[in-house]
Amino acid sequence: MENKKRILTGDRPTGKLHLGHYVGSLANRVKLQEEYDSYIIIADVQALTTNFENPENLSQDTFQIAEDYLAAGLDPEISTIFVQSMIPEIHELTMYFSMFTTVNVLRHNPTVKSEAQQHGFSDMTYGFLGYPVSQAADISIFKAHLVPVGEDQIPHLEFTRKIVRRFNDLYRPVLVEPDILLGEVPRLVGLDGKAKMSKSLNNSIYLSDDSSEIRKKVMEAVTDPARIHKTDPGHPEVCTVYEYHKVFNQIEVEQIEGECRRGEIGCVVCKKRLAGCLDALLEPMRERRSKYSQNPGLVKDILMEGTKKAHRVAKETMDEVRDAMGINYFK
Ligand code: ATP
Ligand code: MG
Repeated sequence: MENKKRILTGDRPTGKLHLGHYVGSLANRVKLQEEYDSYIIIADVQALTTNFENPENLSQDTFQIAEDYLAAGLDPEISTIFVQSMIPEIHELTMYFSMFTTVNVLRHNPTVKSEAQQHGFSDMTYGFLGYPVSQAADISIFKAHLVPVGEDQIPHLEFTRKIVRRFNDLYRPVLVEPDILLGEVPRLVGLDGKAKMSKSLNNSIYLSDDSSEIRKKVMEAVTDPARIHKTDPGHPEVCTVYEYHKVFNQIEVEQIEGECRRGEIGCVVCKKRLAGCLDALLEPMRERRSKYSQNPGLVKDILMEGTKKAHRVAKETMDEVRDAMGINYFK
């Protein structure tokens, strides 16, 4: 256990987790949880960077995300699931990192820019502009070697590596430069076929959706607009449903592509097959989830235990950080 490499990754508690989260990061976390010492952060402070007007939602969303994790197969006996705001050392490290981070570097971060646009910010708050600094602290306080995430996180990981190098260079080499691990699908498109699947865009299939919700959403998904009759030859390359077959129905995808191009399969049948695959993926999650949704005290205990353990690790790193910086006057 002690000499395993570490993983740190997580999500903002801003709503339910969806298939994009699963293929972008969550599936890798489940797969690697035995090989790595895994820390999974529920980044509630980071959620406040955009949702500071509604802090009352944080509690419910935090428990929702924790339940989604457990349903997806994160095993609380081996993965440490914890809450960001409960670890003050993360915020302390964020402050030290912010001393040598320039405003321009943050302003030019492409993910910060596109999210600011998406949220309609004409000006950015200090907290929002600085969230990559706090993310660098989340990762490096656990000395994580590997960070499984989706494509939008590439600039943040590059930035974290730079911060770690700078810290180690300025003071003493106590922090670890993390590697990124992109998911099998680093950017899953939403049901609208335009933007990425996202909690805030109403284009998602959630891990907690039941069979009839899945079927309804898949039936409404965008397909090849040039196809009017089911015998018309289709163009899978422009079809969202085909995109999903590629990811979630690898056994049949080649056959479906051929049948579509030859006009031998209609969109309705094609969609039904996809809905069946998605349902099969989510069914075992439903079973695991029921154990937790019937017993909310269990989820709370898991979060409290995980947070206690994560706090111990964060305190150890911060002792080393303060020693390296000479901020240990009373020792
Ligand atoms: P919000 O709209 O609140 O920002 P989100 O859906 O973008 O929510 P985050 O909590 O910001 O979700 O992202 C959590 C993790 O999931 C990150 O690693 C991110 O890269 C990954 N992720 C999110 N959406 C997708 C997607 N559509 N495809 C692949 N990975 C994704
Ligand atoms: Mg996001």
